[in-house]
Amino acid sequence: MFRVRFAPSPTGLPHVGNMRTALFNWLFARHYNGKFILRIEDTDQKRYDENALRAIMDGLRWLELDWDEGPDVGGDFGPYFQSKRIDIYHRYAQQLVEEGKAYYCDCKAERLEEIRKEMRAKKLNFMYDRKCRERNISSEPGDTNTVIRFKMPLYGDTCFNDKLRGEVCFDNETQDDIVIIKSDGFPTYNFAVVIDDHLMDISHVFRGEEFISSAGKHKLIYDAFGWEPPQFIHLPIILGPDKSKLSKRHGATAITEFKKKGILPEVMFNYLALLGWSTKDDSEIISRDELIRRFDTDGLSSKSAVFDFEKLQWMNGEYIRMMQPEKLTEILMPLYKKWKWLDNREYNGLYLNRISAAMQERLKTLQDMEKKGFYFFMEPTEYDEKGVRKNFKPDRAKWLREIAEKFDTVDEWGETQMEAIIRDYAEKLDVGAGKIIHPIRLACSGLTGGPSLFEMLEILGKDTVVRRLIKAAEWIEINSGN
Ligand code: GLU
Repeated sequence: MFRVRFAPSPTGLPHVGNMRTALFNWLFARHYNGKFILRIEDTDQKRYDENALRAIMDGLRWLELDWDEGPDVGGDFGPYFQSKRIDIYHRYAQQLVEEGKAYYCDCKAERLEEIRKEMRAKKLNFMYDRKCRERNISSEPGDTNTVIRFKMPLYGDTCFNDKLRGEVCFDNETQDDIVIIKSDGFPTYNFAVVIDDHLMDISHVFRGEEFISSAGKHKLIYDAFGWEPPQFIHLPIILGPDKSKLSKRHGATAITEFKKKGILPEVMFNYLALLGWSTKDDSEIISRDELIRRFDTDGLSSKSAVFDFEKLQWMNGEYIRMMQPEKLTEILMPLYKKWKWLDNREYNGLYLNRISAAMQERLKTLQDMEKKGFYFFMEPTEYDEKGVRKNFKPDRAKWLREIAEKFDTVDEWGETQMEAIIRDYAEKLDVGAGKIIHPIRLACSGLTGGPSLFEMLEILGKDTVVRRLIKAAEWIEINSGN
């Protein structure tokens, strides 16, 4: 059985790259009916950030990346927290010390700083000078002056296999005697990750390329215990549209920001799946179930993927378009409440669903509704400036009044009736119907564009339309000095 894990460090808001890692692990587990484990790597107490942890959990829930195992938290699985497994890491570190594969070190920070300075002056990377390697000093529990360091082999190469890169090798001479247990008693990432991946029986590790240089160290720790390492799959980094590493400079990068911007979770899911993975036929709109069915390591690319914000918006629009209007209403409701659009009146479900159906072609994000559909809920208080110049010429006041009168007499408020009235009236004036349609749209919505005019008028209802036409006529009269 394949077992994978997502192992975030709660030190900052989860970047889309982290979420892509989570997603690939999850898809792999679901595709092979394996297990997906969530492990919070919170051993860096200085950088631990509670908000980051919350955002990670929110992000996973938002994308519905559920995990299969973990300690019981009220009948549910919680994630594993490394901070609750300290004894385990100590036990294994102790084993290495006893076997002569690791050692206690009491070198002071000042001494290490000296070494660092000297090496920097020689333009070399910092490496501990291994002063304590053969000193065989011991330590008492609770001693905060010592760390445990791993004895790196001094010569030769270390190689491991990466699914996307094949064999990757490191020169052991470049490897430092890394700290595995810090002076505060917490393990370092490099040590805890190996212990946990082994104990949790992880078969495949999908993670970002930035960890590839650590993987050599991990391999040596696996070797020291005589354990088999998992299959590594280091995913290429994600680039911004300008081909530099994706960062805040390019726009939103934290998963939580996309949620706030009105990107649908199923879109984020679909979009992230295509960042570094593709199907043979290059399809783009792929449902969750279909992604589970098709996801495999064969489709992974070793080239960096570019995060295209516009494409994400396009995809969001496609999903909104495909949605049942009822579903769109349901997900718009929290926004309607947030914008206080439901405070003054109760709208029935039918009305709201008709708005969804009329607007779904025109929304790229849910937030677009705020600017594009407000007039279904409130009177426009101003009219688009360009629209006014073009469509609210002085004589239009009279037109709008006359149309309002005619609309008012309609018994059955429907597209056919309205259309007949407008065409008739246009003929009478000897102008194209468009000349009349545009002022009516502007009068009723304040905007120059939107759904089909007749559909919009039908949804707004006769009374509202008549009232808005008269109001616009008055506005034109006042503003054009008639
Ligand atoms: N805690 C590491 C991170 O911040 C996990 C790296 C790994 O997957 O091994 O992403």
